[in-house]
Amino acid sequence: MTELLTAVQADFEKAQAQAEDWSAETVIEWSANTFGNQIALSTSFQTDGMVILDMANRLGIDLRVATIDTGRMPPETYHLMDEIRDRYGVEIETHLPDHVELAEFLTKFGANSFYNSVSMRVLCCEIRKTHPMENLLKGLDAWIAGVRRSQTATRREVNKIEIDEAHGGIVKVNPLADWTDEGVWAYVKANDVPYNKLYDMGYTSIGCAPCTRPITQGEDARAGRWWWEDGSVPKECGIHMSADWADAIKST
Ligand code: SF4
Repeated sequence: MTELLTAVQADFEKAQAQAEDWSAETVIEWSANTFGNQIALSTSFQTDGMVILDMANRLGIDLRVATIDTGRMPPETYHLMDEIRDRYGVEIETHLPDHVELAEFLTKFGANSFYNSVSMRVLCCEIRKTHPMENLLKGLDAWIAGVRRSQTATRREVNKIEIDEAHGGIVKVNPLADWTDEGVWAYVKANDVPYNKLYDMGYTSIGCAPCTRPITQGEDARAGRWWWEDGSVPKECGIHMSADWADAIKST
């Protein structure tokens, strides 16, 4: 843990309370001023992350951008990554699953075993997403996510800035915590922000290709994620959940 992070943690409650009244731009500015190069935007290139990147760019902030390449992402996402490099001139720090851990998983269970059970799906998410994410966050004092309270029941309580106990007590920043879907899309359209073309095909939340489908009318925005699972299973990969969440699911 760096001295900088320790200092922020010491006076955290005050900053957290203040941040709830800040705009997304102010939250981003505070984050960049506080953590400098020790903070990164972690994004899977959904519209929320793109709004944050665009805002930072307009504020003149040279924000680090990082992603987890699970190896199962749709081609449209890779295309968007190229667009983002061109548009914003950013380098996208790409983190991959551990090849030994992944090879063992594929050898034992097969590439599409996530369809077989919730525990197998969570294990795949753990290897392809959560573990690489842990490696990314180990080197940071803070990270920025596109999490919003209106996305899903498991996200209703998120704060604009919070301590991420699941990742060593670093700071997690959610500048769009109080934004709606409509607000995000209004920003995207007004500012000509690049977005994943799968949204034009009925997708409302985009992850790995085999685990994401478009939604039908009336469905929840994240219903297209792991659509074959019972509705009682949280539509989460584990990155935004508590440390013991995946273990609890895998033991059921
Ligand atoms: S979303 Fe699907 S393919 Fe991607 S890591 Fe999770 S289970 Fe595996």
